[in-house]
Amino acid sequence: MLALSAHGILPTVDYAIFADTGWEPAAVYAHLDRLEKEVAAPAVIPLLRVSSGNIRHDALDPNHRFASMPLYILNQDGKQGMTRRQCTGEYKIKPIKKQVRALLGYPHPQRIPDGVFVEQWVGISTDEFHRAKDADVRYMRNRHPLIELGWSRDDCVRYLTSLGLADTPKSSCLGCPFHGNAQWRHIRDTSPAEWDDVVAFDAAIRQGNARANASGNPLLGQAYLHRSRLPLDQAPIDHITAAERAARQPQLDDDTDPEALEEGVVDGCSPWTCRGETEPAQDGFGLAS
Ligand code: SF4
Repeated sequence: MLALSAHGILPTVDYAIFADTGWEPAAVYAHLDRLEKEVAAPAVIPLLRVSSGNIRHDALDPNHRFASMPLYILNQDGKQGMTRRQCTGEYKIKPIKKQVRALLGYPHPQRIPDGVFVEQWVGISTDEFHRAKDADVRYMRNRHPLIELGWSRDDCVRYLTSLGLADTPKSSCLGCPFHGNAQWRHIRDTSPAEWDDVVAFDAAIRQGNARANASGNPLLGQAYLHRSRLPLDQAPIDHITAAERAARQPQLDDDTDPEALEEGVVDGCSPWTCRGETEPAQDGFGLAS
């Protein structure tokens, strides 16, 4: 959408905002720098980077409140669960809203008068139109220009390719539990340092986040980044094992779909497009304190 705007196919936007969780792959930050320099700057579109902190550091900092990631849980009684996802709201939606309020001239806690709002473009393509949602505040009105153009994901890829941006990487936290096996393999096989980083994080989060443990609210079970609920460096990311198949919950779309195992949670993580958890989330895991 930034390129479409910069090149006059869509109207020129006033700002582009990137919500940084602090733990994107290096390729995403490099791509963002390139977009800013080659696409945004020539069109005089300011690219604003906003953040609520570093999701990786916060999870491991006993002094920091942590908005939980959607971790796969193995309870003490052997039952499987998942922690409620709070990270998209905390690390993406919250800093964007804060920035939008500042741009409008009404920082929190000022009341924004009726009729004062931004038009916010969300990049949903026609093949995922079900993700298009309204914003939950009156001062933001969502539009979905790719759907209005009738552009599918393939159309977007074709356009990016024509601009020399065919290698646009997918944005998400390096250690997002929504990754499918293909994404885990990609990290392992292309970036050993980032693989070591996610394997170390997976081990560090096993008993829950640091603050919950420090405050005497430990996880009553074990947490994992991979849906097999095995340590990441032992998880079956090269193929689907019989055990992993058996562990799936048949009533849930993502887990009955081999493509989801391979490609990750279909709807992933994006502000105003989240569909929800892949599995029913459970509270009381002590991860969010
Ligand atoms: S990419 Fe994953 S871990 Fe990061 S904020 Fe989104 S859901 Fe949470």
